[in-house]
Amino acid sequence: MSALKPLIVAQIAAHGPMRLSDYMALCLLHPQHGYYTTRPPFGTQGDFITAPEISQMFGEMLGLCLAQSWLDSGAPPAFTLAELGPGRGTLMADVLRATRGVAGFHAAASICLVEASPALRAVQAQTLAAYAPRWLGSADDLPSAPLFLLANEFFDALPIRQFHRAGAGWAEVLVGAVGDDLTFGKAAPISLPVLEHRLNDTRDGDVVEYCPAAAPIITAISQRIAAFGGAALIVDYGAWHGVGDTFQALRSHEFASPLDAPGMADLTAHVDFATLADAVAPHNLRAQYTAQGPFLASLGIEARAARLAQSLRGPALAAHLAAKQRLTSPAEMGQLFKVLGLTPAGAPPLAGFDGAMA
Ligand code: SAH
Repeated sequence: MSALKPLIVAQIAAHGPMRLSDYMALCLLHPQHGYYTTRPPFGTQGDFITAPEISQMFGEMLGLCLAQSWLDSGAPPAFTLAELGPGRGTLMADVLRATRGVAGFHAAASICLVEASPALRAVQAQTLAAYAPRWLGSADDLPSAPLFLLANEFFDALPIRQFHRAGAGWAEVLVGAVGDDLTFGKAAPISLPVLEHRLNDTRDGDVVEYCPAAAPIITAISQRIAAFGGAALIVDYGAWHGVGDTFQALRSHEFASPLDAPGMADLTAHVDFATLADAVAPHNLRAQYTAQGPFLASLGIEARAARLAQSLRGPALAAHLAAKQRLTSPAEMGQLFKVLGLTPAGAPPLAGFDGAMA
């Protein structure tokens, strides 16, 4: 039973239908009943599994990419190594293990984690105890220092608003209540400056999603990298100017209705990488973009997989090979997941983006 549902129904009764972004924020981060605040959602026992939980190789490849960028930028002696939405801390732990041999990298790094969930902060504190991480409330709190940043499956968890195109206007999807149940409805169409540019690449009736929280976060990251140097790797499922309804709920590895059990299922939407790149544009950075499969291949995942395979036998070997396949195959995560890389415009390009463009 969802403890959150009656609270949301009552709020709608008092204030009227709510935006999807408000619904999503309540479901994910309500202090008592939010999905991320109440449970460890990852892994085979949880509702979904992310790349770092599939294989250590994911974090190893990203770690080497960031460490190479740190070396290429002259090995700044004090920098922020940051992650947005670190989950169980597995990705950061793998990055740190993989970069142990990079002389000076660990000594120069201050680990900063941006995490909203107290439950997950506690898990991260255990996983990363040896590295004395610091938690920040938001990307705005990132220090004024060179920034090397990771975000995997973070932007998909940020609340979205959703609109149906109606002529030159947009009808917003709202969550309403009928009796004790939640339903989708639509507001009357209005014109919206933030969606003006989408009139060029959509048709009447198309669904467009907009994530208001994304641009300020990208701005905070871009400002640090432009001013102090560094790099960012943002990995998520999505596309360049996606169209269509991608609002989804996952529960026990199955798709569910997003309105059925608020607070008990993971709610996400695909990431529109073009909107992220638009927020980068004013900051004189280089933005590189590719799909996860070519990215990992270019960073050497095949050689790393073969090396790890040498010490494995039987089911462990089969699981290892399946994990590599899952991360890289176009039929699995290799094409759906994209990587956006940011560096100062004058710095050497990031490794990993020389494969086919997505
Ligand atoms: N990066 C991890 C976890 C992805 S799930 C992995 O790849 O396994 C999303 C993560 O973002 C969780 O840690 C969640 O608690 C966090 N999160 C979601 N919304 C957030 C917000 N608005 N601010 C900070 N952290 C948030």
